[in-house]
Amino acid sequence: MKSYTKYLWFNTQKRRELIHITPVVEEAVKESGVKEGFCLVSAMHITAGVFVNDNESGLHQDIWEWLEKLAPYRRDYRHHLTGEDNGDAHLKSLLIHHEVILPITEGKLDLGPWQRIFYAEFDGQRRKRVIIKIIGE
Ligand code: ZN
Repeated sequence: MKSYTKYLWFNTQKRRELIHITPVVEEAVKESGVKEGFCLVSAMHITAGVFVNDNESGLHQDIWEWLEKLAPYRRDYRHHLTGEDNGDAHLKSLLIHHEVILPITEGKLDLGPWQRIFYAEFDGQRRKRVIIKIIGE
């Protein structure tokens, strides 16, 4: 069995941002040499997420509005008693989830026709990481 690990670094200009990462994940799969296996893509933070969905700007706005409705930015989160102000970012991360596992078939990511991979930043403007871990043969 082969294994391959790669880290992606992000430092977003805005506090909240969506970044399309399918091309860099595809590149990592190529670098790994794995033909049949799995690719884990996981945010190494508790205020960010990784998800699979459509690369369509209207939908992205809908996702942000949905997240803001369920986990709005507020001042009165108990978490803020620690001196932080990112309570909403932790909750948004729980809604989106922090990782995805993708199949690799014949040396390529085996995604559905509209499936694309995104890094979701909920508390950025600092250096943050995503791990890509690929295993297989
Ligand atoms: Zn926090």
